[in-house]
Amino acid sequence: MTGHPGAVTDGTGAAGAAGAGGAGGAALRAAGVTKAFGGVQALADCSLTVPAGAITGLIGPNGSGKTTLFNVMTGYERPDAGQVFLGERPITAAPPHRVFALGVGRTFQLTRIFPRLTVLENMLVPSLRGRSRRHERDRAMDLLAFTGIASHAGKLAGTLSYGQRKLLELAYVLIAEPQVVLLDEPAGGVNPSLVHHIADRIRELNKAGRTFLIVEHNMDFVMTLCHQVTVLDSGTVVATGPPDMVRTDPRVLDAYLGTGDDDDQD
Ligand code: ADP
Ligand code: MG
Repeated sequence: MTGHPGAVTDGTGAAGAAGAGGAGGAALRAAGVTKAFGGVQALADCSLTVPAGAITGLIGPNGSGKTTLFNVMTGYERPDAGQVFLGERPITAAPPHRVFALGVGRTFQLTRIFPRLTVLENMLVPSLRGRSRRHERDRAMDLLAFTGIASHAGKLAGTLSYGQRKLLELAYVLIAEPQVVLLDEPAGGVNPSLVHHIADRIRELNKAGRTFLIVEHNMDFVMTLCHQVTVLDSGTVVATGPPDMVRTDPRVLDAYLGTGDDDDQD
């Protein structure tokens, strides 16, 4: 591969614009992360910088290591090598609840709601952390209103549509007021009208200063929402840059289509 004349960078670079209200530096960073499951090398010397204040997209073919990287960055998996930093602080060995308490919220590719609890009860599962029950409840209802599912508060969560479950998970994550939010396929399987709604909510949260890292296969969603996009292939970062540059990068086409020269060959 001969590279691209644009500003797309390899691997470790923190290229790209910081988003609305972006203050520059790295909010969250993975440095040289390696992780194998048995004989499967899920991540190989993988480095990713999530700039503070920006919306960063993480894309790549199925099995390229996106969810594993999320798991390593949020304490659900220990890397075999490499480190994770929240700002300057190493959090590589921190368990998930600690990472959450430090201000990194995440959702899961397969939502982890409690189907037999009501929507509101799901919101109240995180500990009360010294606040009054009344305060927690008001805050939960505010967040359900923000995500647009307040009218479902009393329903069993198991009765929600797939997209509404994604919104419940987003509302749930926001309870802890995380500075950094990782979303694993927030638009996957979601009805198109709800996809726009989810994108709008993320944009609004970002304008208020929150940093996002988003795994998503819906390219319109990624390319219109994200300030920068990082591409994983076989557990390694192959490109990072603004959406328009990543979209046409030969290494990205190669990762997705198996060829970077798809115009003139046949
Ligand atoms: P993506 O989210 O990009 O689709 P994953 O991170 O889920 O990719 O998976 C990367 C690779 O690691 C895949 O080959 C997958 O099968 C493997 N893998 C992920 N988690 C585990 C696990 N807990 N045990 C064994 N293999 C795993
Ligand atoms: Mg995944």
